[in-house]
Amino acid sequence: MSLSFRLRIALWSALLSGIVLLVFLGVTSNMVRKTMTEEADFELKTFTEDMVLTAQEMEEGGLLQTQMVGTLSAERAEVRLIELSEIDDFENELGSSSPLAIDETIGEFPQLYKEPEWPDPSPGIEWKPDGSNETVTFKGKTWRVMTRTFAGYRVRMAIDLREIRDEVKKLMINYLEALPLALLVIGLGAWWIAGRAVKPVQKIIATAENITIKGLGERVEGVTTNDELGRLAGVLNQMMDRLEESFRQIKRFSADASHELKTPLAVMQGKIEAALQNENQSRESNLVLVDLLERVGQLRSIIESLLMLSRSDAGGFVMETSELDISEIMSEITEDAVIIASEQGIELHADNGRSGMMVEGDERLLRLAISNLLTNATKYNLDEKGKITCNLSQSDFGFDILIQNTGPEINIEDKEKIFERFYRVDKGRSREAGGTGLGLAIVKHILENHNEKIEVISKKNYGSKFIFSLSKNLNNE
Ligand code: ADP
Repeated sequence: MSLSFRLRIALWSALLSGIVLLVFLGVTSNMVRKTMTEEADFELKTFTEDMVLTAQEMEEGGLLQTQMVGTLSAERAEVRLIELSEIDDFENELGSSSPLAIDETIGEFPQLYKEPEWPDPSPGIEWKPDGSNETVTFKGKTWRVMTRTFAGYRVRMAIDLREIRDEVKKLMINYLEALPLALLVIGLGAWWIAGRAVKPVQKIIATAENITIKGLGERVEGVTTNDELGRLAGVLNQMMDRLEESFRQIKRFSADASHELKTPLAVMQGKIEAALQNENQSRESNLVLVDLLERVGQLRSIIESLLMLSRSDAGGFVMETSELDISEIMSEITEDAVIIASEQGIELHADNGRSGMMVEGDERLLRLAISNLLTNATKYNLDEKGKITCNLSQSDFGFDILIQNTGPEINIEDKEKIFERFYRVDKGRSREAGGTGLGLAIVKHILENHNEKIEVISKKNYGSKFIFSLSKNLNNE
């Protein structure tokens, strides 16, 4: 499955934005976690100092340690006092000595309070002389533990980090919930922008398609931007101008050449006919003149056909349309065709409908098209006992005309080509029968000018069938 350029841009934008947003989410949540941990440390520091002050007051006031812990719990439930020891007496002795020295003396400090639930020594926590902050997991919870030596006391306090975790989790969930919507908006936005960006390209494609259908006169309109696409449209239009001009020159040349050849050929024909009138001519000379006359006739026929086609190509083809009784026209043409066919032993059956079957068209051209088809049906028939069937019948918008003949099959690869100029399946047979290779090209051209198409069906041992329609009204397509 190939996705459209627009859809691909939208999907890629959404994917890249998704990755960027997820990375952003990771960085943000880390930052939030860090900031909140710093806040927790600050809180712990404040509590530690408060605790020491309270301990001093309480000792002076003779209050119990349990009350001290109670005061703390009332202030903040998730803050725990793990241990409080009095090190006043040892302070001077230890000074700023090594942590080892302190560690060694831990057991000797008089403990004022010890949280019964926390093991001693606490897991993963070290006593350090300048205090330490650690994150540890204990009983399924994550704690931030601060150990400080301060004003003659050593305090260890812990704060439950659940709140921080919950905050970060909430942030991530909110973010992830909003992510699909954000990606949808980004995708739609990219789809819209890509649509606007490819619009000029679509115009160029539409024009290129129209060129094949309507001809070289088409131009890319409405792409006037001064960017790459605008320049592409401009270059294409210039190229089409040059192509159109070249084609016009070629077509004009064929029309001019055909026209120029007409007069000398007519003169030649006249002179040969005059020479044939001369009774003093030898029999051999007469035979040569008759042969020449026939060839000049063929040449004139080719030139006539070429002139008609090239005039049509050059746009100088004027149709003289009128209301025509196609049944009458068909009857007249088939009447003559029956005689020509019978001379070659071919039987022609014609069902020309009833009179009054009216169509709109150019009578001269339609007669030429039907005659060409009938001439071919005779030319390319069986050598013996050949048959031709002509049928005119009513259809939805007008009338269907069918001309069928027995004879050689037209191969599938030749079916389109036989309507090209000078294409002949069997060149020898065509030439022998006086063919020019332009008969069907003219038929196709005439029908195109009547907004119609011709179809051919051909089968082995059966022959060929040419079918086309004519409408009651030319614009009734
Ligand atoms: P031509 O002057 O050679 O008849 P056309 O354009 O009329 O030129 O036809 C092109 C070719 O199509 C012919 O040379 C012939 O091979 C083939 N053809 C045309 N009409 C028929 C037909 N009715 N049956 C079989 N072949 C045909």
